[in-house]
Amino acid sequence: MTPQEQQPGGAAARLLDALLTRDPYQRIRLAMTVLAALLMLCCIGAMYLAVAAGMVPAWPVHRWALVCSSGLVVVYALIRSGYSRRWRDPALTLVQNVTAMACVAAAYVIAGQARGIVLPVLAVILMFGVFGLTPRQMVWVLVYGLVLFGLSIAWVQWREPQQQPLALAAAYLLMIVVVLLAGTFLNMRAHAVREKLRRQKAELARAVEQVRELATRDELTGLPNRRFMMEMLQLEIRRSQRSQHSLLVAQLDLDHFKAVNDTHGHAAGDEALRAFARTVTRCVRSSDVLARWGGEEFVLLMCNTPAAEGTRLLERVRRAVAASPVALPGLATVGLTVSIGAARVQPGEGMNAVLQRADKALYTAKRQGRDRVVWAPGDAPE
Ligand code: GH3
Ligand code: MG
Ligand code: MG
Repeated sequence: MTPQEQQPGGAAARLLDALLTRDPYQRIRLAMTVLAALLMLCCIGAMYLAVAAGMVPAWPVHRWALVCSSGLVVVYALIRSGYSRRWRDPALTLVQNVTAMACVAAAYVIAGQARGIVLPVLAVILMFGVFGLTPRQMVWVLVYGLVLFGLSIAWVQWREPQQQPLALAAAYLLMIVVVLLAGTFLNMRAHAVREKLRRQKAELARAVEQVRELATRDELTGLPNRRFMMEMLQLEIRRSQRSQHSLLVAQLDLDHFKAVNDTHGHAAGDEALRAFARTVTRCVRSSDVLARWGGEEFVLLMCNTPAAEGTRLLERVRRAVAASPVALPGLATVGLTVSIGAARVQPGEGMNAVLQRADKALYTAKRQGRDRVVWAPGDAPE
């Protein structure tokens, strides 16, 4: 079985691809043009029926049909070749509307007693404009249509006054004006709805961004939160296992923080947490990730960092915290110190295991007197 036989509709799909291309934007443009071409073919067919009925002479219809089809072929070729992409309206909607209306106006002039068929065709052409044109373009189409059909009707009445009563010409004009005005009105409504949808889409995107921000940021300090850090840890651990780059994880816990709350109040404790976050952020590199793990505990992730460099960085953090007393509202200041437990991710080690080892090292730091950096056994640099 050939692949074509296996895939039902394969030949039809290939024909459509050849006709409309595979580019989704081009496909829509060309599909609209093909639809317009089918409409024009129907219009041509209707004119030939009028010829068959003996209501319209054949030669003007031949010439008219040739000009209309050539126009469509040119428009299709301009879009299909991609040439129209260099213009502001690559779908050539305005050009198609204007030329189609000219064809319909010419049909009105040559159709004799059968000119009633042009009205529905004009309505369908305007439907394309309702969705494809800007309101400004549509107003120009309205003015153009009024002038074009006004002149066509006047021409017919002037050349062959006996052919149709003036009242019937006025009725045609009235209906053409109604169709043009309705098309313009609908175009403006569609534009307003589209604008509203566009605004709502932008608002939704902003709201999603805000929700994402809320879900991954700690509100008090503005740092990434625990959820974000867990995702980062998992990602970076996988990456470091693949690349075998050194990845360090440190748990930071403020010393005797309960006393800060007890002495200065919870609001002062909050301010101290914010000040601590600022101090540590200033010390670390842009590639490091500091997150609030919970309460007065923080986690620092140092990617692609050998243990010796990690020690220098963590010592810098420890000293900076000790040297940056926090100014509280009023004249009070509060001194902070931090204990740090650090671990280097071992080959094959998971997130929970490395965090546990860093936590144990932190516990040791507390036991040894606080305000110090302690490495998990075996991870300290020589
Ligand atoms: P240690 O040196 O052993 O870590 O002592 P500690 O007092 O820091 O530790 P402990 O776990 O006993 O107390 C932590 C305190 O941190 C208790 C809690 O009131 C305070 N805390 C936790 N989260 C917040 C917060 O968001 N704001 C404020 N102001 N305080 C907090
Ligand atoms: Mg704690
Ligand atoms: Mg503490």
